Amino acid sequence: MEGDQYSLAKQELRRQVVIIGSGPAGLTAAIYTGRANLNPLLIDAPTDAEKQTTPGGQLMITTEVENYPGFSQGVQGPDLMVEFRKQAERFGTEFLEEWITQVDLSERPFTLVTDNSIIKAETLIIASGASAKWLGVPGEAKTPKGFGGNGVSACATCDGPLPAFRNKRLVVVGGGDTAMEEATFLTRYASRVYVVHRRDKLRASKIMQEKAFRNEKIEFIWDAEVAEIRGTQEHGVTGVRIRNTVDEEHFTLDCEGVFIAIGHKPNTDLFKGQLEMDEVGYIKTSHRTTATNIPGVFACGDVQDSVYRQAVTAAGTGCMAALDAERFLDHLPVAMPTGEEVTMEGEHISPDHLRIMRADGEVVLNEPEEIVR
Ligand code: NAP
Repeated sequence: MEGDQYSLAKQELRRQVVIIGSGPAGLTAAIYTGRANLNPLLIDAPTDAEKQTTPGGQLMITTEVENYPGFSQGVQGPDLMVEFRKQAERFGTEFLEEWITQVDLSERPFTLVTDNSIIKAETLIIASGASAKWLGVPGEAKTPKGFGGNGVSACATCDGPLPAFRNKRLVVVGGGDTAMEEATFLTRYASRVYVVHRRDKLRASKIMQEKAFRNEKIEFIWDAEVAEIRGTQEHGVTGVRIRNTVDEEHFTLDCEGVFIAIGHKPNTDLFKGQLEMDEVGYIKTSHRTTATNIPGVFACGDVQDSVYRQAVTAAGTGCMAALDAERFLDHLPVAMPTGEEVTMEGEHISPDHLRIMRADGEVVLNEPEEIVR
């Protein structure tokens, strides 16, 4: 990316720490780096109904959060995110609500381009999250357009225990590990759980399948797609219209809740070709730290986590990313996904700690120099 590619009218900002994303991971990273006097700049996409972006992340579209530690009576998702944000502001986080259109991670400082700004970052913390995939059928949209938040959810752990779903008939859509996990989890509260899957075979791992098959509360509806979610704004969901994918027959299944579990899409398109990712697009990080394959770029929260995906785990990795960035800026080594440790100066320390490769390629033994008195 050459400098003269950018419009001269854009403002140029230079920062030690730039954070992308304002969910629990990004805002926790902001709180920690703010308290470390690093004056973080947090960039987040503006609200856009069509692109389904909401500053604050997925908790902004949740109602009650009962499992975030510290709130014995639960807390509304949007209220929790307001508190996260105020706490980040208190420690000097600067917020920029703009779409990032280009990213160049080939050299430090890294370059981020938005419509109005060019941002140079010594370290970058990516916390852009993941978005639940939706079916796109009538009745699925957020209330008042559909029943999203009023009987339709994409997170059983978040919403399953709510009174609205207790002792009710619930539908889980999908045939992967998430669907099996969510269906099994929901049997703790529901009177019956129907797994609606578009084929006659599950994609889920054998162990998760077997657990679901053994559960007497779970019933499988094979070769079936949800064509419509029905209900009233007063009572919420009352049923789903199902289409058999083999004979094209339609029928209605009565239920009071629908959980869409057809996978998530990490928000990583901007970094494709620059950061190492798995086949789905989750950013690969070190097992010990939040380091990506590029020294100085860290990833935290759902953008690098396809397994836990909880607000509290996102916040935890946000804290890790902040501490990793601080360490890097302090010229200390940070463990990379390869196992070696890298410093800001470009020194590479071997995983067994025996050798150091300096930035110019010279390899030296990692032994303390003798002190001559
Ligand atoms: P996934 O493995 O991609 O499964 C998605 C499921 O949804 C598939 O069965 C797919 O059907 C179905 N599907 C996709 N689009 C659909 C549509 N438009 N209409 C109807 N059905 C649709 O996603 P996942 O279950 O979220 O798992 C993602 C990754 O996380 C996996 O690697 C998984 O192993 C991992 N994971 C692990 C755990 C755990 O170990 N505890 C828990 C959750 C997730 P088809 O099968 O026909 O394609």
